[in-house]
Amino acid sequence: MGSKCCAVCGKEFSPTNNRAKYCEYCRLCIKKDRKKAYRQSEKGKSYHKAYYKAWIQSEKGKISDKAYRNSEKGKAVRKAYFKSEKGKAVIKSYRQSEKGKAVRKAYFKTYQQSDKYKSIIKSYRQSEKGKATSKVSNQKKILNMKSYYLNQLGIPPELHDLKRAQLQLLRACRE
Ligand SMILES: [Zn+2]
Repeated sequence: MGSKCCAVCGKEFSPTNNRAKYCEYCRLCIKKDRKKAYRQSEKGKSYHKAYYKAWIQSEKGKISDKAYRNSEKGKAVRKAYFKSEKGKAVIKSYRQSEKGKAVRKAYFKTYQQSDKYKSIIKSYRQSEKGKATSKVSNQKKILNMKSYYLNQLGIPPELHDLKRAQLQLLRACRE
């Protein structure tokens, strides 16, 4: 066999068979491009998806996926995804879905009954911050005490502010 000119770059090359049209370099490039185009095509994508799904459900795939999730790279990828617009939208729609709501509710209920939660609440209430917060919220409750409630106690409207101040004072004394 004599030499031929590459149909892409024009370089002379020694063909390995009669149908060869491209030099070694161009042949590899074309192969690579075809592969890329296939991967980006709908057919290529759906094939890849199906393949991935089957793989992830296999024992080997599960182990590998778990290892990936726990790896630094896997964690970083997940973190970046949750911060991306797409990831945020996915999380939001999950939270608003019935399933997401039910899962959260069930999770919170279990959490509330856990000893960990109880001890957190207890230590918060005993902390300076917790005490201050409850003091403020109690004062707010008095300040925001509905006129309706004071009317029920038989207090005329012009004395409502006075009554509120009195209640606040009483509470401050008790503390
Ligand atoms: Zn070439």
